[in-house]
Amino acid sequence: MTPLKVTLHELTNAGEKTKAFVQRAIQLMEEVVNTQGFRDAVAQQKFSYIHHHGTDHSKDALMRYLFEGRELGTDADHEIDLRINLRAFYYGFRPIRVLNKKTVGSTNLGGPVIHTNLYHINNWVAHDDVASGVGHWLHEWMHVVGYEHEDANGDENDVAYAIGAIAEHIAWERLGSSRALSSSS
Ligand SMILES: [Zn+2]
Repeated sequence: MTPLKVTLHELTNAGEKTKAFVQRAIQLMEEVVNTQGFRDAVAQQKFSYIHHHGTDHSKDALMRYLFEGRELGTDADHEIDLRINLRAFYYGFRPIRVLNKKTVGSTNLGGPVIHTNLYHINNWVAHDDVASGVGHWLHEWMHVVGYEHEDANGDENDVAYAIGAIAEHIAWERLGSSRALSSSS
């Protein structure tokens, strides 16, 4: 099995501390997606909704696109390509607009840019919550691959949500075990 690489090509609007946080999350994502546990969990997941912008909505295609690092309309390069823009989200428009604290991020189908809500990433950085970053950016990358939600809210078992959640869970496990290791040495 060819290992997957995770590459951060672009990160905009990040200060030094946030940049370091994102780089750690990217590195942890690369570890996570190459574990047998992640591969098995995705293979066994019963997705409620698999809808690809191309034509193949099968689970087999999903496994291929994911583990071949194939963004929508590109060839398999075994690389998860990430371009991340951090910005504030709002409800409504100027002059009457309200800070949106609910949406974590948004990505057009095929991306290439993932937009992450500053409100959330600032919280993750403050709590050193790298695992949430891993889950979020893999969720958004599934949109870059071409998977869509059924409606605006999505469903916790659709492709993007379920794969994000699996990655976050394994990220937590790996962080937990490395913390246990370092505290015992
Ligand atoms: Zn989404």
